[in-house]
Amino acid sequence: MYNPKSLKAEEFISHEEILSTLQFAEQNARNRAMIVAVLEKAKQHNGLTHSEASLLLACELPDLNEQLFSLAEQIKQEYYGNRIVLFAPLYLSNYCVNGCTYCPYHAKNKHIPRIKLTQEQIKKEVIALQDMGHKRLAIELGEDPVHNPIEYVLESLKTIYSIRHKNGAIRRVNVNIAATTVENYRKLHEAGIGTYILFQETYNKEAYEQLHPTGPKHNYAYHTEAMDRAMQGGIDDVGLGVLFGLSTYRYEFAGLLMHAEHLEAVHGVGPHTISFPRIKHADDIDPNAFSNAIDDDIFAKIIACTRIAVPYTGMIISTRESKETRERVLKYGISQISGGSRTSVGGYAEENNGSEQFDVSDNRTLDEVIRWLMKCGYIPSFCTACYRAGRTGDRFMEFCKNKQISNFCQPNALLTLQEYLEDYASPRTKEIGEELIEHELYSVPSAHRQEICRNWLIDIRHGKRDFRF
Ligand code: SAM
Repeated sequence: MYNPKSLKAEEFISHEEILSTLQFAEQNARNRAMIVAVLEKAKQHNGLTHSEASLLLACELPDLNEQLFSLAEQIKQEYYGNRIVLFAPLYLSNYCVNGCTYCPYHAKNKHIPRIKLTQEQIKKEVIALQDMGHKRLAIELGEDPVHNPIEYVLESLKTIYSIRHKNGAIRRVNVNIAATTVENYRKLHEAGIGTYILFQETYNKEAYEQLHPTGPKHNYAYHTEAMDRAMQGGIDDVGLGVLFGLSTYRYEFAGLLMHAEHLEAVHGVGPHTISFPRIKHADDIDPNAFSNAIDDDIFAKIIACTRIAVPYTGMIISTRESKETRERVLKYGISQISGGSRTSVGGYAEENNGSEQFDVSDNRTLDEVIRWLMKCGYIPSFCTACYRAGRTGDRFMEFCKNKQISNFCQPNALLTLQEYLEDYASPRTKEIGEELIEHELYSVPSAHRQEICRNWLIDIRHGKRDFRF
């Protein structure tokens, strides 16, 4: 039976509830009065339930679909303004005991090199990332209790946080590792991680079990209940995601929102972020073998409907997507993107060693990504202030809901962009950035904060670093 407050996967992600949600959405896909009523509710910017949002996703009326996209744009603007936060993935080890059929790191793949970075190699990767200008990382590892035990992850976190190369510093490390125990989540929390990210891959239990035929990841309930254990272990910020293409997108969308509702119902705070990966070609993986692939139009609609359903949740898109696709979906709700990414183990310090997890579609350098964002009217941000000031979990959500965000995030984005321009930008990027900062400073609502920010910007130009509100 469906129960969002239950701690049992099959009750908070109820298959029957998803099927009836999809049936309701399909039956009313042309029900103008009902869709208009949902859009009216959404205009209050307080979010929607999984069934209301599923109805919008199914909507077949072109004029209402247009309204839906422009509403997503408005909500994005209201809560996130034109700021886009930058990060990079850092692959530490591709040893893996699982059998995921879409991932080239699956245990049966004998011809990719298996690499686990030493602390010395991690140091080189981090220096290369700092030299690009990154301040925020997401570490990625396969699941392997022998090669990648929690102690290795903890030691690596310590190494990453400790490196200070020139003016560089990694100020927030998000962690994407397989589902684990409350005790291990507590250790990650104590090590000062940012968000704990775990993609559900698919919410459809039957499909899940087929796609994960072997290894600990086969256990659907253990995987699906991981975020509850993470929160019990003290982690406030968790990041959800499905790998689009594995099962039908409408099923995944309803499941994703039910998961968000569950976290809110049980822990009083929804997911900090939702990521939107689509299956890509990889070593022995052919994306065409997965029949549920979605096209760019549906992808954009999923992103717009998610923005409307969960207005305060950060939304992430990686370099799996091309420049064109990224440009399109940024305006409908994406708030964080990766840039200059390598998906191989050791790929930042070294040339390609054949250990990529998947092909990257956006191969531009971080400097090119920053320049492109600014030309598109966005403010690239390297801000990590909320996490460092303890504004996590429900405190972050409250802060968002009270619309405090523009008095904090806007100046913090400008300050961190100024650091990037001073330390890492090409002359052309710097020129565009300086103009943008001058112009955007006036959009900080508080005149007092504008003044402080202006002084700090001068200090940054004179070599000081790490100012934040
Ligand atoms: N091993 C960890 C786990 O079990 O959750 C997570 C780390 S894995 C490096 C990060 C994510 O990459 C996976 O959760 C999956 O969604 C995604 N991924 C795997 N194969 C992919 C592919 N061929 N194309 C795109 N994304 C893929």
